[in-house]
Amino acid sequence: MSDEQVRYDQARYVEDGQYEPLLSEKDLTRVDVDDDSPLPDDLTRDSLELPELSEPELARHYTRLSQMIYGIDTGPYPLGSCTMKYNPKFTEDVAALPSAGVHPDRSEESVQGTLELLYRLQDYLGRIGGMDAVTLQPPAGAAGEFVGIRVATAYHEHNGEDHRDEVIIPESAHGTNFATAALGGYDVVSLPSDDEGRVDLEALEAALSEDTAALMLTNPNTLGLFERDITEIAEMVHDVGGLLYYDGANLNALLGRARPGDMGFDVMHYNVHKTFATPHGGGGPGAGPVGVAEKLEPFLPAPRVREAEGDADYELFDPEHTIGKVHGYQGNWLVLIKAFAYIARLGDEGLADASAKAVLNANYLASQIGYDVPYEPFHHEFVASAGDQDAADVAKRMLDYGVHPPTTKWPEIVPEALMTEPTEVESKDTLDRLAAAFDAVAEEDDETLEAAPERTTARRIDQTNAARDPQLSWHTLEDGE
Ligand SMILES: *Cc1c(COP(=O)(O)O)cnc(C)c1O
Repeated sequence: MSDEQVRYDQARYVEDGQYEPLLSEKDLTRVDVDDDSPLPDDLTRDSLELPELSEPELARHYTRLSQMIYGIDTGPYPLGSCTMKYNPKFTEDVAALPSAGVHPDRSEESVQGTLELLYRLQDYLGRIGGMDAVTLQPPAGAAGEFVGIRVATAYHEHNGEDHRDEVIIPESAHGTNFATAALGGYDVVSLPSDDEGRVDLEALEAALSEDTAALMLTNPNTLGLFERDITEIAEMVHDVGGLLYYDGANLNALLGRARPGDMGFDVMHYNVHKTFATPHGGGGPGAGPVGVAEKLEPFLPAPRVREAEGDADYELFDPEHTIGKVHGYQGNWLVLIKAFAYIARLGDEGLADASAKAVLNANYLASQIGYDVPYEPFHHEFVASAGDQDAADVAKRMLDYGVHPPTTKWPEIVPEALMTEPTEVESKDTLDRLAAAFDAVAEEDDETLEAAPERTTARRIDQTNAARDPQLSWHTLEDGE
């Protein structure tokens, strides 16, 4: 049976109303458990209900579930801005080492190896970003943004400049930038792009004032375009006393080649789950370390790790004017291990090679597809336009061709945007397969597109309703529901 046939049969299976039932929906049996626990009776139980299953049934249940989903281990995942790269399994092995399972409450002296890894990761990230100091605590890019903006606020307040109440953000920015600024208590000043898709310097000049706390930028921007005027932009922001924030989600384009710190950025977050390997999407754990220039170091979250003077090699310390703690212990430790292992394995040359191939792959793919790509020259991602087709329908239809679609409808400067980022991990064969899927969908009529996806396990999901009326606990589907 061909791959396509298998996928098709799965879809039929679901259409017939035969979802793979949860284990808790199978026949349950009450089993006695030996109670030799030292805990009080009201904290223990002497029996529990478990599904009655043989090993093959269990293995098949999970295998079937794994076949119903699409993931980075199934095929290409060119979701622009998200940098969905294949995550090498050796990083999982490293994170699964028994010695990685340290209890976070252990004494500093007894976890010197853990602290050394964190210290070296702070150092790696600082050097990659051109930043003087790094905190590893924030658990995601968005959380990193919030920490970065809180640090900026603390810095301005410390300098007696708490009148600064505006954060400037390009229209094309990620939604989290606007949310971060608003959550940080700032008024958002939205910046239009120029005809070429970059920051409009005249508009920036007009937006800057002594009320400016920061300008948030990603570079290359969400169109994949490098902000060529970045040095001038940095000067303009600094001239009015503002700070320049770097959204690190697009770092994959610059890795080992250019550094935000050298461009004049004062503070940045790293989406380590995008740039440095960790499966993400579906809300999986990530980490959003924040790097800062020296002048912002005293405000970073507490604690950080530094080399110790006494008997121990490494110790925790609280920066002088810290904004406080933003996460339990040191952040998402297992994710940080994977980032460390990935960077250490690739080294300087490997990182530079990754960004080169990420840019090459994006440019090759764009050259192979029929859809128009209005803004160039782009780096690690490009934004094609679906033209007269609805980009969301195009995305659904691409699933029927066995590939994951790009990010759609954003940035809004490109009509019916298909924001595509193949990443460095895909081979030419895979990129050709992806291009063939784009081109096949480009030829299809609205009726076909609107009916898609036909061959996936789940068909069109009512996303609006799922967001407005979420079912937060499991219940079995009744007939006709
Ligand atoms: C993914 C992304 C973010 C947010 O990062 P999370 O780690 O998902 O919280 C911010 N900005 C851009 C441009 C992104 O692509």
